[in-house]
Amino acid sequence: MNLLLYGAPGSGKGTQANMLRSKFGIPHIATGDMLRAEIAAGTELGRQAQPILAAGKYVSDEIMIGMIRNRLGEPDCEPGFIIDGFPRTVPQANALDTLMVELRKRFDRVIYLRVPVEELLQRLSGRLVCPQCQRTYPPNTSVCVADGSALAQREDDKPEAVRPRIEIYLEKTVPVLDHYRASGLVSEIDGRGTIDEISRQVLAAVAAPANGSTAQKAANKQQA
Ligand code: AMP
Repeated sequence: MNLLLYGAPGSGKGTQANMLRSKFGIPHIATGDMLRAEIAAGTELGRQAQPILAAGKYVSDEIMIGMIRNRLGEPDCEPGFIIDGFPRTVPQANALDTLMVELRKRFDRVIYLRVPVEELLQRLSGRLVCPQCQRTYPPNTSVCVADGSALAQREDDKPEAVRPRIEIYLEKTVPVLDHYRASGLVSEIDGRGTIDEISRQVLAAVAAPANGSTAQKAANKQQA
């Protein structure tokens, strides 16, 4: 089972990815978490990435493609994976297509969590995160229910970085959705319900046959 979670920052990708990881026992590959781990470890890549994340900008395609290439090649990805936060640009999407062909894998589903921009801005500017497990919480929560860690605000959830993150998403990442729409693999889900409601819809989308597969095959036949 290879899944791609697509949506703006604050749309709930991480929460749904955690649910899918527990349900299917496949790794959750979140490029943002990978970068934050590099920053915390003080690696060269972490030092380069830190100011970029803090400003809400994007790390270069070259670095991100290299990172995902290495990660998908690891043995725990063999049974499947859930990608969250990649691809964020059209060149990343093209590189991921090539990589999937090389790995002889295909996506089973692209889940798009749709949330209006005003709500995203509101969610991001108040949210808190568990530094251990990365679960996110609304304002005025103090500890993580999963591991008891004290919650903190992510540097890029500070007001000065939130708007640039949404702006770059609208400019560079929204076009990535069109890249996947043609495949018939995209399931669009309203990301504004309760977590349980959204999880139910995500699981239903994952279980359903690809809605474009039959239509796409018919279209391909007609074109041939
Ligand atoms: P996230 O946790 O997914 O919101 O990612 C946090 C930050 O990491 C983003 O705002 C970017 O600065 C960086 N980042 C994560 N994934 C990518 C990517 N695929 N391409 C470029 N930058 C990324």
